[in-house]
Amino acid sequence: MKAITFQGVGDVRSKDVADPKIVDPTDVVLRITTSAVCGSDLHQYHGRGGALVQTGAIMGHEFMGTVEDLGSGVHQLRRGDRVIVPFSVSCGGCEWCRRRLPTQCATTGRAVFGGRFGHVWGGGQAEWVRVPFAEHLCEKVPAEMSDHDAIFLGDILSTGYCCAENGGIRPGDAVAVFGAGPVGLLAMQAAQLFGPAKLFAVDRVGYRLKLAEEFGAEPVSLDRGDPAEQLRARTGGRGPDVVLECVGHETPFTQAIQAVRPGGAVSSVGVYVETSMGFPAREAFFKDLSLKMGICNARNYMTPLLPLVQGGKLRPARIITHTMALTDAPRGYAIFDRKEDQAIKVMLKP
Ligand code: NAD
Ligand code: ZN
Repeated sequence: MKAITFQGVGDVRSKDVADPKIVDPTDVVLRITTSAVCGSDLHQYHGRGGALVQTGAIMGHEFMGTVEDLGSGVHQLRRGDRVIVPFSVSCGGCEWCRRRLPTQCATTGRAVFGGRFGHVWGGGQAEWVRVPFAEHLCEKVPAEMSDHDAIFLGDILSTGYCCAENGGIRPGDAVAVFGAGPVGLLAMQAAQLFGPAKLFAVDRVGYRLKLAEEFGAEPVSLDRGDPAEQLRARTGGRGPDVVLECVGHETPFTQAIQAVRPGGAVSSVGVYVETSMGFPAREAFFKDLSLKMGICNARNYMTPLLPLVQGGKLRPARIITHTMALTDAPRGYAIFDRKEDQAIKVMLKP
């Protein structure tokens, strides 16, 4: 099959690789109908955060498809079922999975499809993919729901929602979202479900801030000076009640702490690839803040959020700017990374 493989820092390429096969009785093999390039793929693409992905490894953890082959132990799925799958690989049975923390799965060692930690699973930027623990991981998609509406439930829509939920937004709150990339934009959509009176989007990329405005956010451009000062000026001097951090660097995390009002909450889902970072701990302490960060347990959100997409209360497909052939993925990575051609979300079709 054809697959997008890691060939070195800044270098992903389409290669012919072996077709995935059923190995364990609980596996399925999916024929991929749609996959996508995620901001988290960019960390691997840039070689950020220690160990590189193995040369030749198949990239991608945002994908969906139809069941083509099943292990002998899979009874709740049939050939031809359309399914979505979360980005992290979990067994569904270990202590952490039973505590609803599938990203901490002890069996897979916190593995992610196409990732470099735990057992290495082939990614979904390919024609086919092997999905283990299939009855636990696969969620069937209603026939009338398009791939573009369904696919983000497995990663960025669930992540955006979980960021908003972790912020504890209450009706009437002022909320600021740092990062107007795919995750931040979907966090803005999700934040609206909690009834904020004011929503702000912080970024420096004009065309992304424009889409944020469509989602009801007032743009705050980093190019116009300190975002914490700008946010205070627009909230009567006090700062937002809740700040959602959707970038994944020391700078926006620091700015989020500086911006939020005393006693407020900072919820962060940006992936920190460095082993440690500096942040204004004293300010966070004396402002009496609540801080929450972490990887999203997307498996927990796929089922409850699906009807919100079906009912049009969440419109994740609106962030898609490019749909290209799988083999064009190197260009997809490049424009998404460099924010060229107004790229926000790049979809790949095998
Ligand atoms: P992206 O890189 O397209 O978006 C990041 C945005 O942040 C860009 O638009 C950039 O211009 C902006 N930005 C940079 N510095 C900023 C600052 N100081 N203040 C405000 N905005 C700033 O990527 P994405 O796909 O939206 O992903 C965002 C982050 O979410 C990444 O770190 C990704 O790894 C992470 N992520 C986490 C999870 C999870 O489970 N926690 C899941 C998916 C993605
Ligand atoms: Zn992702």
